[in-house]
Amino acid sequence: MEVPGEELPPPPSYNQMFPIKVASVDSNKDSQGKDLIDMIDDEDLLEAPIEKDIDTDSKSETSKYAQDVPALPSRQSLPYNLGSVFKTSNRIIDDIKNDMFMILGDDQQGILGVNSVDYAERLSHLKHIHGEKYKLLMLNDFDKSLYRQISSDALGVITSVMAIVMEKETPASVSKISTYHVNFMVKSKRTHRPCRKHRFYKLEDWELNPEDKRDLLLDFTEQLAEGDDSSLPTLIDSATYFCPTCDRMLRVEIFPPEFDAADLVAFEKESVQERYEEYKAKNPESALVVPNQVDCLHQLYELLLQLFAFKTPQENVLLLELCLGRNILKKLNFRESSNGTLDHPLIPETETQKEFVLDAYLRKTVEVLNIGRFFSNSKPEFQVKSGLVPTALLESLDEFDTYLMSSIVADVEDKSLMSQDYITLCSQSYFKDQFIIDTFKELCFANPSSKAKYFDAFTNIAHDRSSPTLWTELATQKSLGVVGFAELRSCYDLFNIDVDNSKVFSTVDDNYLIKAYRYALAYSDGTNPSMYWDAMLKIALDRGSRYLEIFLKTEPVADVERAYSTLEITDSVEDDIVVTAYEIKKDDFPANVELFDRCFLAIAMKRRSMRLFDYVDSYMGHLNRLLPDPSQNLDAAYRFIGCPPNVDDFTFLSCFQEKWGSDLDSRMLYRCLKAIAGVRKSKLVESFSSSGIIDARYLPLANTPCGLNNIGNTCYLNSLLQYYFSVEPLRTAILKFDFSLTQEEFSADEALSQRRIGGRNVSFKETERSIQFVYQLQDLFSNLITSRKRCVTPTRELAYLAFSPSTEEVEFEEEVPEQEEIVQPYEAVVATADADAPLIDINDSDDDQEPEFQHNSPVPGELSSPMDTDDETKTTPNAPTQQVVRRETKRSAAKIDPEQLENALEMGRQQDVTECIENVLFQVESALKPLSLDEDDEQVDLIKQLFYGKTKQSLQPVDKDTKEHLPDGQVRSKIERFLSLLVNIGDHPKDIYDALDTYFTEDLMNLDDGEVKRSLTITELPKILQIQIQRVQFDRERGMPFKSIEPLPFDEKLYMDRYLETEDAEIIQKRKQVFDWKREIQSLSQKKNSLNSRNASGLTALEALEVSKAYLDSDVFQKHGILVDENTISVLDSQIKLLTEELSTIDQTLTSLREKCMTQFKDLKNVGYSIFAIFIHRGEASYGHYWIYIRDPVRDVYRKYNDEIVSEVSFNEVMNFAEGNTATPYFLVFVRDNLENYVDPLKRDLEEEEAGSV
Ligand SMILES: [Zn+2]
Repeated sequence: MEVPGEELPPPPSYNQMFPIKVASVDSNKDSQGKDLIDMIDDEDLLEAPIEKDIDTDSKSETSKYAQDVPALPSRQSLPYNLGSVFKTSNRIIDDIKNDMFMILGDDQQGILGVNSVDYAERLSHLKHIHGEKYKLLMLNDFDKSLYRQISSDALGVITSVMAIVMEKETPASVSKISTYHVNFMVKSKRTHRPCRKHRFYKLEDWELNPEDKRDLLLDFTEQLAEGDDSSLPTLIDSATYFCPTCDRMLRVEIFPPEFDAADLVAFEKESVQERYEEYKAKNPESALVVPNQVDCLHQLYELLLQLFAFKTPQENVLLLELCLGRNILKKLNFRESSNGTLDHPLIPETETQKEFVLDAYLRKTVEVLNIGRFFSNSKPEFQVKSGLVPTALLESLDEFDTYLMSSIVADVEDKSLMSQDYITLCSQSYFKDQFIIDTFKELCFANPSSKAKYFDAFTNIAHDRSSPTLWTELATQKSLGVVGFAELRSCYDLFNIDVDNSKVFSTVDDNYLIKAYRYALAYSDGTNPSMYWDAMLKIALDRGSRYLEIFLKTEPVADVERAYSTLEITDSVEDDIVVTAYEIKKDDFPANVELFDRCFLAIAMKRRSMRLFDYVDSYMGHLNRLLPDPSQNLDAAYRFIGCPPNVDDFTFLSCFQEKWGSDLDSRMLYRCLKAIAGVRKSKLVESFSSSGIIDARYLPLANTPCGLNNIGNTCYLNSLLQYYFSVEPLRTAILKFDFSLTQEEFSADEALSQRRIGGRNVSFKETERSIQFVYQLQDLFSNLITSRKRCVTPTRELAYLAFSPSTEEVEFEEEVPEQEEIVQPYEAVVATADADAPLIDINDSDDDQEPEFQHNSPVPGELSSPMDTDDETKTTPNAPTQQVVRRETKRSAAKIDPEQLENALEMGRQQDVTECIENVLFQVESALKPLSLDEDDEQVDLIKQLFYGKTKQSLQPVDKDTKEHLPDGQVRSKIERFLSLLVNIGDHPKDIYDALDTYFTEDLMNLDDGEVKRSLTITELPKILQIQIQRVQFDRERGMPFKSIEPLPFDEKLYMDRYLETEDAEIIQKRKQVFDWKREIQSLSQKKNSLNSRNASGLTALEALEVSKAYLDSDVFQKHGILVDENTISVLDSQIKLLTEELSTIDQTLTSLREKCMTQFKDLKNVGYSIFAIFIHRGEASYGHYWIYIRDPVRDVYRKYNDEIVSEVSFNEVMNFAEGNTATPYFLVFVRDNLENYVDPLKRDLEEEEAGSV
């Protein structure tokens, strides 16, 4: 397409005039910022400190026309604010021409003051249907009156031009002529700057300052003061524009015709004839002939000229009435008198009134001249030429392309005037590319809410013109995030916002969008969370909302999986690896740092990791810019955490940890913590806020459990001792233990000699040794409670007694009194007051009485008041005196030499932890008197009550073919006690349930009398459930044990429903299904193994077939002239295919069956346990390091007991099932739901500090 005017100097670029809109951020600072925070949280936390320096990325390119443009006044010096309606002169003139089109159409609204984008579609549509319906005319011979210039030094120049708008088609009759008036006023300052193309911004009338109002004839106060509003002009449409480049003002007014159709009917032939006959009837003598239409019109013209001069018309009123009719005369201010005749109009009294009356006369005259043109060759006065181009109007604008603009008014065909896209962009086909770009940008700046539509128009024009310049700009805009309307609509659709419903859409603000975004995320199906972010960013960019943009760029990515994959790590890596991965990514791809930041934040929030939040705080502060600063309002910060400000550091952190475990916004919580840490200046809080761990070193002794020194590779013993210490009923029993026994007493006690522990009788020697062992434990526990040190040392005797089998006899000697004082047992302190009281009376022959040491075997519910039982014993009468003696001597020291101890420790190293546990518990049991004896004489006591459960093994005969139960088969069953369940990691269980499933599996066995189905169920649940994970496997090839570090995932909760003995038919049926599936799995696995078995050449069947085929296909046979039967190859092919398919089917079936087994019982959650303790071993089978994690249910924290150091650790450290983690759990302890009070790891009651110690 040839663009006319190519030779013209290029228009100036407006790029550098575009201040990027930051108003939205600043103006939102108070309202939206605050609201956002309200949404996030506590209403008081809230002076959201939006940073002042939200950068306004200056997108201004250096314009190649820059030197053409004089320096611009700064925004502040402009007399007017720029509004949101922007137009070019071209657009305004076309609007003038088409205003009536629109007003008379459905909209009934003028378009002078409306943004082009809002009417482009409709105007273009109308033009396509009707063509250019109106034309803009000046009546040239009347130029002098229609073109006025007023100038004064003060005012500059005001040019006023009048023109008319009328339909292009010649009307059918004179009454159909409508002449609309256009008043076009340009006010130029004397000092105006050059302007190649004005940038007209619409001003509202009320915005105008008084001076401009007066100059543009918008000040009617004088008329109103004079009490005459009849002379005020009627306006159809009007608008005032202001160009910030040159300070020019343009006022456009459109007036309706002075004479409407009802008036103009007077000039129709029939009307004239009618009036003539009326006149003739009144004046029969009159010689007047019928006037013709032109004469009548001319009469009006003559009359107007006289009125214009404020002269009294010479003509007879009756004659005027004959020619013009009464309507028209009334419009000319003729007055109807009481006798029905008309009087001449009065002359206005004041100058202002005259001015408006004259304007009205002028418009009437113009109309008469225009109507005169309807009658060809009638009178010379009516032979006015109409200027198709109102040159004066265009010239008054003083733009370079005036003569090109004439296409707007002339009948020059310019399709761009009909094109919706050009109308939208206020442009014309002759505009140069750069100018279209500038206009596009200016429009986007003025009216950002329609940016998408401007962009569509721009895109269409770019394609229409095939212009590389426009295409380049298009690409640039796209890269800045500008999108078209269709795309924008689909973005809003995601948030259920209807862009076409202007009522709703106009209420959508940044706040609403943020809410909509959060809502959409919360209720999305999670398939593509980043979709919402992408869409919202497009919306933010389209709206030009920096606030929304910053919100999005400081939001964590919604999809944590994506966050991990973006940083190329997995969710099992440690926090430090997250930091490293982030730093590497940031260095390698600096352009994507915003995304990496958001990924990092998402991971920090998902993990609730303080280490990561600390990093965000230190290195990504900008992510917090929309968050309130709690350091400005510490009271609110404390309230947010739910903690009074005046508590000690530890209480504060405890409150915090509780909230940290809730679903409160972790970012805000962390910021509150940081703010408070900054004020508390406490090492404890400070170290916590960067590590998330309460560092025991900074804790008051009373708030942290005491550690145990390692007395020489005691393996898991310390873990075990801390574990037992944490079992509240057991600890209480040990602390209260007070018992001794002689051989005679032992033999005399029937219960003691009859009882069996672990299925065997216990000798006196063993019992004696066990009692000493319990005293050793008592001393240690008491120390753990009262010591003012951070850790205490177990005695070597204790270690020896724990490790060496109870059958091994130990020589004891009486303890030296001083030692007694040194290791003052905790309970003994309480008991000293009644040291001579008979605490134990084993000689009591009264068998009706419960054994005394029942007190040491608390029943749940009585646990809370151990002191009561003491009181009871104190009141026991008949205290034999010999017991006092015995009491003094009941503690003995074991005679153990170093070699013995070393041997015992070595034994410990060889033992399973269960062997040691059994040994320890056996000794505690044998030191206790039985509460009762079971059928098999097994002793029932606290240990049995706490740790033991019972299983039932059933053997049910089955049909050897169908494997179904034989109806008459004799079911044999056996009940057994268990202390722990053993699961084997060698079976590669997928999780703890998978492992337990194997333990409780139903399987088939061949017995002498036929095949039976063996099943194992739990008939009695332990209160404390212990599961041993067998990790030590035997490597047959190397002939040595090795440790498997295969992860065995488990949750904090464990449900045992599925393993219980039950009559529930549904559960039994479900178990049978699993049994059948497992059999199928077994047979399929065997089949698969046999298919995959290797022949003598080391090939599987499939490989052998493939090799054969490849060999036959090769050229070996051809070379030697051996023919290969084609059939052979195709048979091979089909066999390969069959085999491959079969293997794949087997694999699929196996996967599906395993999945079914895994999920079969997942809804059974009635019998729940919570994690209590996790024993960890790190290292190889033959060496390594041991520690234990114990959960404190009171504060819901985990502590790591690593010998002398007890520290709080994160949940992630405890539940780390990452592949390759060598710190593996080997013994798990769960506590039955509702018995969490059995777990009480933090028991401290510090002894008085010694007097004089500082
Ligand atoms: Zn200008």
